[in-house]
Amino acid sequence: MRLVVYDDWRVGVLEPDGIHEVDSLIPGPWRRTPRAMNWLVEHFDGTRGRIERRAREVAPIGPDGVRLRAPVPVPMHLLAAPSNNARHIDEMRSGAGETGPPETPRELGFFLEAPGSICGAGDAIELPALPGRRFDHECELALVVGREARAVRAARALDHVFGYTCLLDITMRRSADRNEERSMRKSFATFTPVGPVLVTADEIPDPGQVGLRLWVDGELRQDASTRDLLVGVPELIEIASHVLPLQPGDLYTTGSPSGVGPIVPGNTVEAAMDHVGRMRLPVRARPW
Ligand code: MN
Repeated sequence: MRLVVYDDWRVGVLEPDGIHEVDSLIPGPWRRTPRAMNWLVEHFDGTRGRIERRAREVAPIGPDGVRLRAPVPVPMHLLAAPSNNARHIDEMRSGAGETGPPETPRELGFFLEAPGSICGAGDAIELPALPGRRFDHECELALVVGREARAVRAARALDHVFGYTCLLDITMRRSADRNEERSMRKSFATFTPVGPVLVTADEIPDPGQVGLRLWVDGELRQDASTRDLLVGVPELIEIASHVLPLQPGDLYTTGSPSGVGPIVPGNTVEAAMDHVGRMRLPVRARPW
């Protein structure tokens, strides 16, 4: 099933003919709020049949003409895998003149980005006016947690995955004279476009074999597969779930392949992922 959130936080099922709204299945306190999908993810096992029936009953709309939101607009946690691709580590280190043994999520664990940096496929990436700073794109497969995961071993970790979505991890790079915390450099508003689709895990044959590509103004910049992740989805969940319980609706982004590069206002960024879908966002100067 392919789930989307749109307009005033409506939840729908995306089919080839458009979006089929299923809001009536979401209880009042959550319906048409940014947390509607958190409820749906947590209660999906008992709701899936009714969602499918409801989706068949209602006429489709869009997706043209609707504002596509992030499919999980407010996860409790937005976790990110650092340095999870050998070629990306090389390109970051050569830029910084660093050497030494590789450090992967196995050594480094995870870091957090602010959930408030999340935006949707219908939004724009807004770059703050910070002269001399470089802002890069990173194209990443993100998983959405389905069932609470507490101290889960890798062998059972996929039981805790609800589904997958496309995530852009926009990053302000360090500069010669500035060395801000990574979490801040990645947490500017709109720096985490997600979606538009949350694909349930049953539609992804193997999260370790997902091709992903990213273009800037039509130029292919990243072209890779999750098979190149140094630490795969099951082990990422094992690592993080031994630190704290992962919650239904949490987003965990798996890390970027190589090919990251700068974006500037006026660019258009497009990303596509096998089985998941694509999104296309303009880049503009932050208006505030
Ligand atoms: Mn990243």
